[in-house]
Amino acid sequence: MIDIQQILTKLNINPNNPGVSTGLKSWNGSGEILESYSPVDGKLIAEVHSANPEDFEEVVESASQAFKIWRLVPAPKRGEIVRQIGEQLRGNKQELGTLVSYEMGKSLQEGLGEVQEMIDICDFAVGLSRQLYGLSMHSERAQHRMYEQWQPLGIVGIISAFNFPVAVWSWNAMLAWVCGDVCIWKPSEKTPLTAIACQNIIQIVLKNNQLPEGISGIVTGGQAVGEYLADDSRIALVSATGSTRMGKAVGEAVARRLGKSLLELGGNNAIIVTPSADLNVAIPGIVFGAVGTAGQRCTSTRRLIVHVDIYEEVKNRLIKAYAQLRIGNPLDENNHVGPLIDTIAVDHYEDAIEKIRKEGGHFIIDPKVLKGDKYDSGCYVAPCVAEVENDYFIVQTETFAPILYLIKYDNLDKAIELQNAVPQGLSSSIFTLNIRESEQFLSQTGSDCGIANVNIGTSGAEIGGAFGGEKETGGGRESGSDAWKAYMRRQTTTINYSATLPLAQGIKFEI
Ligand code: NAD
Repeated sequence: MIDIQQILTKLNINPNNPGVSTGLKSWNGSGEILESYSPVDGKLIAEVHSANPEDFEEVVESASQAFKIWRLVPAPKRGEIVRQIGEQLRGNKQELGTLVSYEMGKSLQEGLGEVQEMIDICDFAVGLSRQLYGLSMHSERAQHRMYEQWQPLGIVGIISAFNFPVAVWSWNAMLAWVCGDVCIWKPSEKTPLTAIACQNIIQIVLKNNQLPEGISGIVTGGQAVGEYLADDSRIALVSATGSTRMGKAVGEAVARRLGKSLLELGGNNAIIVTPSADLNVAIPGIVFGAVGTAGQRCTSTRRLIVHVDIYEEVKNRLIKAYAQLRIGNPLDENNHVGPLIDTIAVDHYEDAIEKIRKEGGHFIIDPKVLKGDKYDSGCYVAPCVAEVENDYFIVQTETFAPILYLIKYDNLDKAIELQNAVPQGLSSSIFTLNIRESEQFLSQTGSDCGIANVNIGTSGAEIGGAFGGEKETGGGRESGSDAWKAYMRRQTTTINYSATLPLAQGIKFEI
């Protein structure tokens, strides 16, 4: 068993009064109390104060002042600060990864993997800090130079979800920092301690470099605190990760003030399995996608669209694979599946099961809420598989639990149509050894998702690519490729070094 008190202490968190304690001055909210319970064993880890409007004001003011200094630091030097953050994360990987696992309920391997993802994005951002390239254009006017440059936006608000309590914030923050922005983070109310731990790590680096603490601010709390960020026109960009319901509310609020938003919302991800698929590769990919993180990844596999000719074989192999799953404490590396985040999520699982049955679905692997000593927190459920039709209302909805839907198809056009026929558009994949099938899936008539994979599952993205999805997934892109552009403003510049004033498009204006 882990010693959580020791881990909190190592991460500079006082369990009796958790707040940011490592900067030039400490930060703690003074609003209502959030209780952080572990879904692993149901124990209260600590009570955290939310930010109230005055706390929020103080954090925004501190960020505004910090921006005036930070934007003057050359981008590669900002990269050096992010490099130091990466080093701190390396030094704290075990403790932070364990806290992620204990507070959120994902497996220890996934908790450590999440911290590794943070380290990786630091490395990426360090390189990026020397590559914030703009284009140059040839002016139509003689002795004129025309180019574009990228400037920092200002304050970036980051609203994050419980299921990737720290990695998603780092995807945003590390890029925003090398771009010259300052950040205010509103972590999930379900995982405030991991956020405070990260904030402590950042503040050590800022202090070591005599940089203002407002470069990295935090406001703990629930929906109301997220709304402060969405409504405040001093927040230039709000990057929000969470449910589509939340994204619609945040997107509307930010649009009302014509601010920028970057939305990373729910998924309803499918895998197509064709007759030529190598099932030795496909089955583990499907099972990991469906039950990993107890089905609580935005990229979790929710729908499996299988060709009729191999349907029975896939079904039987799934039944065999699911029978081997071990459900229990995620800190025990022998277990494959940990708990859901809380008992509300268990209610949603049960509610979905009732709806699947009502709409005519048939379970080939039965659902169950697990009881007994090992499952004291009341958050453990059995992963299940149901045969359904794609157009059931419940199948069209993202249920954040390990429920896999099995759907039959007889030709690939139909399979792609089914895969696309949901409101969400995050991740998708096809298992095939047939190049025509694979290329059709990847063509403009193929998958309509932000992520389209061949012979790997829907979950487990690498930081090097741009991450995000279409339709009700929100359209945002984070992390790799040129996702950094969302954190900067583009400025087009024309310089006249001639002794005349020629106008564009040949217009004459003589005085
Ligand atoms: P959630 O929508 O309940 O909460 C997410 C965050 O939004 C929390 O910090 C919450 O306090 C805040 N929030 C909620 N309503 C708000 C409002 N009206 N205004 C401002 N802030 C508000 O989501 P969750 O249960 O924490 O996370 C699960 C969801 O997140 C799933 O739908 C999942 O698919 C999605 N998700 C998406 C991605 C992605 O990259 N596309 C990544 C992770 C999670």
